[in-house]
Amino acid sequence: MEKGALFGKYEVGRLLGCGAFAKVYYGRNIQTGQSVAIKVINKKKVVGTNLMSNIKREITIMARLRHPNIVRLYEVLACKSKIYFVIEFAKGGELFAKVAKGRFSEDLSRKYFQQLISAVGYCHFRGIYHRDLKPENLLVDENGSLKVTDFGLSAVKDQIRPEDGLLHTLCGTPAYVAPEILSKKGYNGATVDVWSCGIILYVLTAGYLPFNDPNLMAMYKKIYKGEFRCPKWMSNDLKRLLGRLLETNPKTRITIDEIIHDPWFKKGGLFKDKGPEFEFQFYHDWLDLSGLFNESYNPFVDGEKFLSDMTVDKIIATIEEAAGELNVKCRRRKDCVVDLEGPKGDFIARVEINQLTEELVVVEVKIKGGESASYNKIWKKKLMPKLSGLIYDPKSQPAEEVDTTNDEVEATPAVVSTDE
Ligand code: ADP
Ligand code: MG
Repeated sequence: MEKGALFGKYEVGRLLGCGAFAKVYYGRNIQTGQSVAIKVINKKKVVGTNLMSNIKREITIMARLRHPNIVRLYEVLACKSKIYFVIEFAKGGELFAKVAKGRFSEDLSRKYFQQLISAVGYCHFRGIYHRDLKPENLLVDENGSLKVTDFGLSAVKDQIRPEDGLLHTLCGTPAYVAPEILSKKGYNGATVDVWSCGIILYVLTAGYLPFNDPNLMAMYKKIYKGEFRCPKWMSNDLKRLLGRLLETNPKTRITIDEIIHDPWFKKGGLFKDKGPEFEFQFYHDWLDLSGLFNESYNPFVDGEKFLSDMTVDKIIATIEEAAGELNVKCRRRKDCVVDLEGPKGDFIARVEINQLTEELVVVEVKIKGGESASYNKIWKKKLMPKLSGLIYDPKSQPAEEVDTTNDEVEATPAVVSTDE
């Protein structure tokens, strides 16, 4: 990659790492000084394969994730030949590099494992499976917190084959692959991720892989049979948990909910640094706690506006009622702001109501994450018609004329295409 400022916005520095189809560089936002990582994908490599759809999926998936242990996507830039993902910089590098120097204590392993399960549980709850969890995709930030990266392979629930609800793509990394993937009968993203978490926990605490063999077929056989041994130094609670994580039968394998209640997992309290009252609540709260209010950037700015002469309360009540009928979650943020989350979390949108004149308000909807297809299906085709009673007669007030009144619209488009 060329040195110098990228799009006049980021100073590009050293190469941080190479992945399956991307190079990752250190970067610095020239205006704010913020450190970032810039993941560069060469478009030439992408053309003619289905990687382009994988990349689009990666954008969508990463953009809708807000969790302290998941690498944030700030911005996506593009030129003729390359796509740049500007992501949160994880200063501590790969967790793998640290384990390579020697196994971790059970306490330190537990800290990382709790953060991993928190991130994975958060994603699973939203129907997102990573499917390529391994130490190389686990990074550490300057505070020593875990950051999961590389969602390029993960799939969304909607992409699951409808007949049996199972995923069929063979993917993942040999040593981390779950036995049910090897049997090629189709598998479930949730149990596969739990298996990988088991391998990761084993590597952290043992310092080496549970299933390993220079011969790939021999390694697969060991995985398939679940043949592994725990070293003597491990505590019994840890051995028991590893046995439940690396259970070959996905139907009886431990679930995320069970992991959270496991004695080894809970030992000494969760997330010690956050105090004893800290609840393990990835199911509901991360979304509320982070990001949504002060986004520096959002790739899904796709505003929809209409005028209404109803009161704000009436508008919100109507939206809440219509949303309820469609299984869309509705959360009132401020007096004039409502957040919507599609069924299964497949899109997140925000409705903002701003007073225009004494009688008129502007209602504006912005996609904050998820898939525009399902947003279009639900908001445009189903929700909007139910709100038609709210819409002010456009003959007397053309909608275009109010465009300039909302100065809060984020200005950056999803993908900036320029010639370098
Ligand atoms: P790929 O999807 O091609 O596998 P990754 O996202 O895994 O690419 O990135 C490849 C490598 O680049 C990682 O293993 C890591 O060493 C480095 N890297 C990736 N993202 C970051 C980041 N946010 N901060 C620091 N280093 C990173
Ligand atoms: Mg990777």
